[in-house]
Amino acid sequence: MLKDIKGVGPKILNLLNKLGIYTSQDLIDFFPFKYNTIEPTLLTQGPVVITGIVETTPITTYIKKSLNKLSFRIETKDQLVNIVIFNRAFMKNNLRRGMEITVLGEYDEKRNTITASNIMLKSIDKPYIEPVYHTTSGISSKLISNLINNCLETHPEVIDYIPEYLVQQYDYPDKQTSTYLIHNPDDLSTMQKSIERAKYEELFRFMFKINYLKSCRTEVDGLSRTIEEDVVREFISSLSFELTKDQQSAIEDIVHDLHVSKRMNRLLLGDVGSGKTIVAVASVFYNFRSGYQSALLAPTEILATQHYFNITKMFESFDIRVELLKGKTTKKERTRILEDLKNGSIDLLIGTHAVLESDVQFANLGLVITDEQHRFGVNQRSIFQNKGKLSDVLYMSATPIPRTYALTIYGDMDISIIKTKPNGRKEITTILKTQREIKDVLSMMLEEIKRGYSVYVVCPLIEPSDEMKLMDAITLREKLNSAFGNKVPIGLLHGRMKPQEKEEVMEAFKDGETRILVSTTVIEVGVDVPNATMMIIWNAERFGLASIHQLRGRIGRNSLESTCILISESKSERLKVLVDSSDGFYISEQDFKMRGEGDLFGVRQSGDMVFKIANLQADMQLLTKANIDSQKFIEENKDDSFAEYPQYVEITESLSHLD
Ligand code: ADP
Ligand code: MG
Repeated sequence: MLKDIKGVGPKILNLLNKLGIYTSQDLIDFFPFKYNTIEPTLLTQGPVVITGIVETTPITTYIKKSLNKLSFRIETKDQLVNIVIFNRAFMKNNLRRGMEITVLGEYDEKRNTITASNIMLKSIDKPYIEPVYHTTSGISSKLISNLINNCLETHPEVIDYIPEYLVQQYDYPDKQTSTYLIHNPDDLSTMQKSIERAKYEELFRFMFKINYLKSCRTEVDGLSRTIEEDVVREFISSLSFELTKDQQSAIEDIVHDLHVSKRMNRLLLGDVGSGKTIVAVASVFYNFRSGYQSALLAPTEILATQHYFNITKMFESFDIRVELLKGKTTKKERTRILEDLKNGSIDLLIGTHAVLESDVQFANLGLVITDEQHRFGVNQRSIFQNKGKLSDVLYMSATPIPRTYALTIYGDMDISIIKTKPNGRKEITTILKTQREIKDVLSMMLEEIKRGYSVYVVCPLIEPSDEMKLMDAITLREKLNSAFGNKVPIGLLHGRMKPQEKEEVMEAFKDGETRILVSTTVIEVGVDVPNATMMIIWNAERFGLASIHQLRGRIGRNSLESTCILISESKSERLKVLVDSSDGFYISEQDFKMRGEGDLFGVRQSGDMVFKIANLQADMQLLTKANIDSQKFIEENKDDSFAEYPQYVEITESLSHLD
C-alpha cells in the first residue's frame, strides 16, 4: 500500500494522488520525464560542478524571516573554496567535516566562492545521471526519487509481461534490475536499454490485447440478413444533400458486412466534419429494415443528446423509433424505455456506454455503433463486441492516422476511411501569432464577440506550474476577464472537473450564456457549437499538429468564416503545416515525420490507450516488433490457453467478459 511506504504521510499521500499516483505500482511506474547529466568541471569563473571534502563546520546566518544562508569551506584536490547556499539551513546537520560532497553552482573567482544551487552528499568522479520527475508544489523531484527507492526496497513481487524467450532474444536485463536502473541510472547505455525494455513491455501488452481480440474474432459467425443491400438507397435518397464518394463507399462496406453472415467489426475513420454520422445512420437504417435493433454509443451525454436530436429528424419520414437513455433519465422513464427495448418496440437506442449495462436488454440487438472510438479503451472493444452475442459492431473515430498505423493499433478491425469533406463548408483560416502580438489577438476576439459569435480559447495547463512556464486555464480566464473589463461572460472547462460540471459548462457555452470558453484540450470531440467561429490556442508549440487540427474542427461548423489563431513563442515551421493544409491525413503524416513529442496523432488517450512510458508515435519500431512478437506468441500459446503464462491468462479473461 502506498501509505505504508517509508516517508509517505497523509500530506505526501495527498500530493502523490494529485500526481495520479494511488498505488505502489503507480509510484514505481512514475517514470522520470527527463534526465540531467551532471559532470565534474574545472574550477573556473561561472557554472561549476566540484567535488571536495567538507573542511569547516557550516555556519547558519538568518538574514530575513524567509532567507537564511549556510556557509562553509571545502577542500578540492587543488585548493580551499568557500561555499554559500541559501535557504538550506536544514542541511547543516548533514554536512559533517571530512565528508565528501559535490557542489553545483556559480564560482566567483575574485571571492573564491561558489554560490551553490544544489549540494549532493556524495562525490562524483564520472558523469552522474539524475532522473527528473514531474512534480507539483509541495513535493520535489528529489523527494519522489527517494520515495520510489523506498518503495523499490520493499516492493515484493514483480510481474514481467515479456515472455522469457523474448527477454533473452532482445538481451534485456531482468525486470527488477531494469526498473531500478530507470530510477537510478548508472550509465547511459544500461539506462537506455532499461527504458527500451519498459516501453517494449507496455507495447507488447497493448498489442497482445488487440491481436488476441483479432484471433478470437476469426472464429465467430454473426447474423445474416436476407434483404437486399440496396434497400439503403431509400434512406440515402431522402437526404437533402449528395453523399460524398467516400461516404458512399463506407456505406457500401458496412451494408455488405451486415448482409453477409460473418460478424462485422469495422472502424470508420474520418476527419472531423467529414460526415460520419450519416454513414452510421444509413447503417442503422439497413439494420432496421432487416429486422434488428441498433445501439449508438457516444462518449458523453452531450454528444448522445446531439445525436438523438439530429437522428430523430433524419428518421422522421420512416417509421423508426429512436430513444435516448441518459444518466439524468428519470427512473420511470428509464423503466419504460427498458421495457420497450425488451419487447422490441424501440429500434434505435442512443446513449453513453451506460447503454451496455447488464440490465439494459434488447430484444434483438443487431448493430452496435460507437462514436469517437478513440475515447474508449481496448478493453471496452470487447464489451461492445459481447453485448449482443452476434451483433455487428461499427466504431467511428475522428482520428486521421496514417494507414499503416491504423492497421496496427486497430489491427483487430476492418477499416473504412472517409478522406474528403462535404462541399460547401468554409475552410478555416489559420494564422500564427507570437506572444508579443497578444494585443492583436485580444482585439480580434472582441471583434468576433461583438459580431455575435463565440470563441474557444485553449491552453496546455489547468493551473500554474513552477516547472513549466506555460499558460494555464485558471490564470488565462482571470487575464481575459481583466482585459475585457469583466464584460464578457467566460466559461472554464478542464479535465479535473466532474462530468456533470463539464456538461453544464459546455451547455452554457452552447446556449450562448458564456461567450468565451477557456479550456484545456478536454473540449468534447464532436460537439457542435455552430455559433463558435474562433479558436485561440495558447502555447501552440506544445501540441501535436494533429491535436490542433482536431481542436480546430470545433469551429467552422457552419457556412460562416472561422479563424484559428495559434499563439507560440516563435513562428515555427511545424505550425505552418496547419496554416497551409486542412487535410487531417496529410497533417498527421507530417506530424509523424517531424516526430512531435508525446502526441498520438491527436488521439486523446484514454482507457488502456494511455501509455506510461511508451509513445506510439516515437516508438514506432518497438510497436512494430511488439505487434509481430505478440501475434506469434498468441499463435503458439492460444491452444493451451496460455497455461505457461498466468499473467496472460488474467488478461485474456478480462477480455472475454460476456453478458
Ligand atoms: P463528423 O464526421 O465530424 O462526425 P458529422 O457527421 O457531424 O461529422 O457531419 C458534419 C456536418 O456535415 C453535419 O452537419 C452533416 O449534416 C453535414 N454533412 C454530412 N455529409 C454531408 C454531405 N455529403 N454534404 C453536405 N453536408 C454533409
Ligand atoms: Mg461525429
